[in-house]
Amino acid sequence: MEEIKDKLLEMQKTILNDLESDRDKSKTAISGDIGDDIDHANEDRNRELYQLLCERDQVKLEQIHHALDAIDANTYGVCEDCGEKIGKKRLIALPFTKLCVDCKNEEERTKGISRATSDLSSSFSGSDTGEL
Ligand SMILES: [Zn+2]
Repeated sequence: MEEIKDKLLEMQKTILNDLESDRDKSKTAISGDIGDDIDHANEDRNRELYQLLCERDQVKLEQIHHALDAIDANTYGVCEDCGEKIGKKRLIALPFTKLCVDCKNEEERTKGISRATSDLSSSFSGSDTGEL
């Protein structure tokens, strides 16, 4: 289990470093663009994108945190849905996963169905051509 913990800590460090360097970059970009009307819209869009990325990183950090907690509490590697042990291969590939393969597939299938239902009025071709 040590290698997974190391990997989680490594991922945590990488995300924090990325956030740090992104923040520096966006700070420079914003201060450099001040007073430029043309770039103003771009700047807003970049900021939105940056916030979006931050949120995603935040979620990832939480997942990593959760996994590290679980390792300490000795509950790591157990599917939160069915209580079965998650395969080690899967844990190494996705160290912060909370679900086993079966439950994850089930979850994705359920999501897919609900999405297809909500898209029913626009298209029911079953293809992904409607996706942006
Ligand atoms: Zn499961």
